[in-house]
Amino acid sequence: MGEQVRTTCAYCGVGCGIVATRTGERAVEIKGDAQHPANHGRLCSKGTHLGETVGLEGRLLHPMIGKRQASWDKALDLVAKRFRQTIAEHGPDSVAFYVSGQLLTEDYYVANKLMKGFIGSANIDTNSRLCMSSAVAGHMRAFGEDVVPASYDDLDAADLIVLVGSNTAWCHPVVYQRIRARCDAGAKLVVIDPRRTETADEADLHLAIKPGSDVALMNGLLAHCRTNGLIDETYLSRSVSVPDDFWDKVGEGSDLWSVAKACDLPPADLRRFFELFAANPRTVTMFSQGVNQSLRGTDQVNAIINVHLATGRIGKPGAAPFSITGQPNAMGGREVGGLASTLAAHMGFAADDVARVGRFWAAPTMAAKPGLKAVDLFRAVGEGRIKALWVMATNPAVSMPDAGRVREALAVCPFVVVSDVIAETDTSKFAHVRLPAAAWGEKDGTVTNSERRISRQRAVLDLPGEAKPDWWIVTKVAQKMGWRTAFPYDRPAEIFREHARLSAYQNHGARLFDLREQVVIGNEAYENIEPFRWGGDAFAEGRFPTADGKARLVAVQQIALQDPLPKWPMTLNTGRYRDHWHTMTRTGLSPKLARHRDEPMVEVHPGDAAELGLTDRSLARVSTPQGESVFRVILSTGQRRGELFVPIHWTDQQSTGGRTGLLPRPLVDPHSGQPGFKSTPAAIAPVAVEWRGFLLAASEV
Ligand code: SF4
Repeated sequence: MGEQVRTTCAYCGVGCGIVATRTGERAVEIKGDAQHPANHGRLCSKGTHLGETVGLEGRLLHPMIGKRQASWDKALDLVAKRFRQTIAEHGPDSVAFYVSGQLLTEDYYVANKLMKGFIGSANIDTNSRLCMSSAVAGHMRAFGEDVVPASYDDLDAADLIVLVGSNTAWCHPVVYQRIRARCDAGAKLVVIDPRRTETADEADLHLAIKPGSDVALMNGLLAHCRTNGLIDETYLSRSVSVPDDFWDKVGEGSDLWSVAKACDLPPADLRRFFELFAANPRTVTMFSQGVNQSLRGTDQVNAIINVHLATGRIGKPGAAPFSITGQPNAMGGREVGGLASTLAAHMGFAADDVARVGRFWAAPTMAAKPGLKAVDLFRAVGEGRIKALWVMATNPAVSMPDAGRVREALAVCPFVVVSDVIAETDTSKFAHVRLPAAAWGEKDGTVTNSERRISRQRAVLDLPGEAKPDWWIVTKVAQKMGWRTAFPYDRPAEIFREHARLSAYQNHGARLFDLREQVVIGNEAYENIEPFRWGGDAFAEGRFPTADGKARLVAVQQIALQDPLPKWPMTLNTGRYRDHWHTMTRTGLSPKLARHRDEPMVEVHPGDAAELGLTDRSLARVSTPQGESVFRVILSTGQRRGELFVPIHWTDQQSTGGRTGLLPRPLVDPHSGQPGFKSTPAAIAPVAVEWRGFLLAASEV
């Protein structure tokens, strides 16, 4: 048995601590880390089976130029040369990076610095855009900075937990265990979700809301609070800016009956929710992709935050709005400015922020304006405006909305680089250069979880073949592009220290994101860094990182929802399975995880199925204005009538069916640029082939 290494899980934003022990050349024993504050030793099925996924099957082990193996030097020379040439001929905005919440903070920092400070463009966006950018935009509108005002400890102190658009039992299982423990001790659980999920099944109250009507629901709750004297006037006058027209706007159509109609909910259930909220000041409202992945995601986030600010349920134990992130390091990416719309260390593109970051980096060419967000970025690739693209640790040919169009864009892009741990992905098919990246268990750095806790991720295995950490790859390219002095890094601790220094640089209390206390750490201290939560009890004093120190209520209103279209009478929703992660490049390696759901299924209400001639376990084609794909039918009374649900995980590598990315429209929230995956107009029809195994049958249609 090797040494026990304290690290963190590779998967979700819960950020569980793991103790990994090497038991062979490519074998690791996994246990929960009892000392880690995020999970206290607990792990879910995905984390528990991480050891089954560290083999070398399918790994990219050498740099590749086209189909040929190349030396690192040759491959990096080519990447640097093509990016330099493209910038010289077409300007800095003709190149782009598309990165990932799977990267470590140090990887993210270096990529962001190269693009925004040295190439001089902000065309670096991340797959986190698809996951929680509406929460970022909502936080910035309400608090002036992207700060999550909650911790997991708040769940232990809450008397009422409201989960909005979150199948927490499947998607954040260890947090859900904590919620269940609190409910066993007497707290109430309300789940707001169009689907009756495993989480909703165990709730005291499930509101099967009409998709897209969340603003109506939260404004109705706010109106109920106002009518019943629950507005915290003292807190409002001291700590919150209230626009003059706020109460008129949010109060419009917010009586119980109108809200019940808008949300398609029984008025009695709605009243019960309002009464539960009124009776329990210690309320945590936790939300995730069901809120964020909407064409009005930012407004939905602000509608939730409005209720908490107006009732003073924030900055106190057990009382907060709480955005829970999907990916393990989406939050670390937010901290270094990994989104095209943010700069670094929680700064934006205001002129003084740009100047401050430029001074700190001694940057020759600072990006002065936001870059292209994910959907626009790939559109620009398809239109020939982006001529050199580097995709790191993600698979946009599967995960982006309208993924067929993304493939067409990648096919016409003059130069595509993919750095990944996997040799053959749907995206890497289009790469001119593939660079082998270090995987979980082989790399060192930090991650930040949903509650702002920064933890170390540590290597337990040797780097296989010629694989290298992402920060090393980006550093070498930056050096070869001519910026050796600005990118001198030999180890991730040096990058973390620079990141921490930037967070404190000329930050006279203006930003909450400040790692001042971490600035002085040496390499040895970085090695031993204990998980810490930055910002402490932010907002406990009722002060916010805005110019006047006050939070802001945002007057959001419900928009009219589109009626079903004759050709597309259904509404398609997408999401995760319990035991799979993203495009299954890792979880697909574990036979135990595959057992839970081994094929892509479309969930259909039995009433709709009967009308449409669909039977349980038959095959059906789901089509939308964007594309179509085949799924196995599963009948579920947990679906609302007229609505379908499909998983996001299956790719060309695993199946000819279940290609969910082909279906959603490339439409986005106007504030955040986050795509609205949750309500695509769709149709479903039986596929006339006999069942002889899904893969074979699907391939015949
Ligand atoms: Fe990993 Fe998330 Fe499961 Fe924790 S809850 S073990 S972080 S997948």
